[in-house]
Amino acid sequence: MTTTKRACAEDLLATGPHGRFFGVSQECFDRVWRTLTAPEGNSTTYVTMEIGADRDLYHPIKKLLQEAAAREDLPVELQPEADRFLSGPSKIPIYSGGLGVLAGDTLKSFADCHIPVAAVSLLYRRGYFSQLVDMNLGQVVWSREWKPEETPGLYLLHRPGRPTEPLTVEVDFHDRDDQPIKAVARLWMKMEVSCNLDFFVPEILLDYDLTQSPDWIRKASRQLYDSSSEVSKAIQRRLLGAGVLPVMRALGLTSKTIHLNEQHGVILVLSLISEILHRQLGDNYRQQASDQDILAAAEQAARHVVYTIHTPVKAGHDRFPHTLYHGLEHSFLRRILHLLALDEQNPAAYNFTALAMRVNRATNSVSRLHREVTRTQFPQFKERISAITNGVHHLTWISDAKAAAYDSVPELANWRLEPCLFNRAGKFLNSNKFRRSFTEAWRQDTSILITYLNGMLSRHRHQRVSTWIDPPNYLSYLREDEGRLDGQAFTFGFARRFSTYKRADLVFEDLDRLAKILLASRWPVNFIYAGKAHPADEPGKVLIKSIIDIQAELYRKTEGLARLVFVPDYDMSVAKMMVAGCHAWLNSPKRPLEASGTSGMKAAMNGIPNVSIMDGWWVEGYHDGKTGWKFGYEGPVKAEMLSEHPSELLYREDAASFYEMLPDLLGTFYHPEGFDHYLDRCLNNLILNCPIFNTHRMAAEYVERYQLLLPAEVDERMRKFRALYRSDLDD
Ligand SMILES: *Cc1c(COP(=O)(O)O)cnc(C)c1O
Repeated sequence: MTTTKRACAEDLLATGPHGRFFGVSQECFDRVWRTLTAPEGNSTTYVTMEIGADRDLYHPIKKLLQEAAAREDLPVELQPEADRFLSGPSKIPIYSGGLGVLAGDTLKSFADCHIPVAAVSLLYRRGYFSQLVDMNLGQVVWSREWKPEETPGLYLLHRPGRPTEPLTVEVDFHDRDDQPIKAVARLWMKMEVSCNLDFFVPEILLDYDLTQSPDWIRKASRQLYDSSSEVSKAIQRRLLGAGVLPVMRALGLTSKTIHLNEQHGVILVLSLISEILHRQLGDNYRQQASDQDILAAAEQAARHVVYTIHTPVKAGHDRFPHTLYHGLEHSFLRRILHLLALDEQNPAAYNFTALAMRVNRATNSVSRLHREVTRTQFPQFKERISAITNGVHHLTWISDAKAAAYDSVPELANWRLEPCLFNRAGKFLNSNKFRRSFTEAWRQDTSILITYLNGMLSRHRHQRVSTWIDPPNYLSYLREDEGRLDGQAFTFGFARRFSTYKRADLVFEDLDRLAKILLASRWPVNFIYAGKAHPADEPGKVLIKSIIDIQAELYRKTEGLARLVFVPDYDMSVAKMMVAGCHAWLNSPKRPLEASGTSGMKAAMNGIPNVSIMDGWWVEGYHDGKTGWKFGYEGPVKAEMLSEHPSELLYREDAASFYEMLPDLLGTFYHPEGFDHYLDRCLNNLILNCPIFNTHRMAAEYVERYQLLLPAEVDERMRKFRALYRSDLDD
């Protein structure tokens, strides 16, 4: 016994050419690094603007260390590292929301499935903004101090054999006279380690905030989605895209496939095209290349690029005026942009989505419905656009209580390695024993959520005198015994980025009608809301304010039956508590603008039914009502429906549809005989959707669609994960 544990503990340190890393064995490190740097280059470089993978939710090493016995057996020299790992800050605030969380979940699944990938992203010294919410002001932005140096699990890479000299890369910008301006970045590495600690995916984070970089570049590198100016935004995109090849060269990464997670890093293709022309035409390629040469080189570059497009919404597609690139980009690269990135509607702008669409060997949308929308938006690339519906990382999002309940089912013994197993669970659906243990786990998760919220309300109540922030919740202004939530009350969870098309306030469109429904049967309902609006998204901020403003009136009109609470500073840990602890997960976007949506999948894995507009993944996950409820418009998708104009957001129609559905939902939950049917929906959401909407299945579809070469045994497992589902089936 002791020897295995000791071996296990000692296997937690590895030395590579660029650093010492805690959490994997030397054997594992060497094996993975060899694959990533092998001359045949069968790995993938995954380029993403953000990565959400906070350690407090899920980390295989932390889990190991928390088992006291393993810790006692740790060699003395590893104790400080282990302590740091358990107690140090666990937030790495380099994500804003869905896109980053998806990237983190994807990389974790790549690691679990042993798919050789290295990720490249940026290290933002000021991260993404933190959110305070004030009763009168709405969202207030502030910046939480974050020190990468003190964050365990993050390593500054050094030059080979020179531990005191940081490894750096240079990226050239160019002024108006094409004179180079050098930006310098240090490289940090974070690892997503597989659940068995036998594989990892390195995430290389470029940190440009150094004295060697000009001030204007340092400034633009500090905050994710800095929108203080259009220039900052363009610089930030460039810091990512133009950094990819230098990172690969510096570390010896040989991947021949580069995966663009959204178009943000697409400047990379300019480097690829230039290198091809340089090889073909020699040092004078900039003068010698004809337009035909450039287009031919773009075709060659495209063979190395795969692209996932994540949204049909305009704000998600970067467009920049040409003039902005004078002073940033070499005139030759501007010439390439001119040939490949012109915006059709606005010839004075470059459109990065158009560039990404043009230069790749395969494009995927993130759900079936989104494939139709994307094909409508980009008819000229129709053939190349397929669907790979998103997933979430089941090990990250299933709560501890639910995991214990799943562990009690013999058929599910291997669910951690094979989330597809849940589909075999039809039998236990009707087992009273399982239904009881599931319900008990659910009760625990609800209790954790409600206790957290009541603690927050109480804290805010007492803080009212001591800070300038007026707490955002009406309940905080009521007496302690009145202004709290009851865990027995039906609890809706709603949390996502606040932007207009997501229509956070949809279900409050007609408070009188809502009140009438609740009062008729005296049904208590909690509405738990959370989410940030991008600081430059004024309408998004107005939505947050309107959620706050509705609270008092809703409370009054429903005689306290309906309680609406806003949880400030939405992040992954709040998300996990909410998706596991509420009674239904609500989603009310305007169809078809939600390309996929992933929080509903997190709820499904926890056996929480979804209540949603037929948009994004829910079109695929609804299963004729077996897994939850639907409401709202679900007719055909036409180009004019992509409008986000306030008058076209269908508030009245879709809210009315919600109110029509609501009595059935609440009746099923509250009726003594209905609850069993409610539980059926919960368990069906788990067994029909968990096997499919997880990132292992998604990764399996990626490797097939993108024709990645994998070792035979890995390929075999991937086959199994995708056997259940093909996102790309025609309707
Ligand atoms: C899952 C998640 C999201 C994305 O949720 P959607 O349903 O896709 O909008 C955003 N932010 C956080 C913190 C999350 O955990």
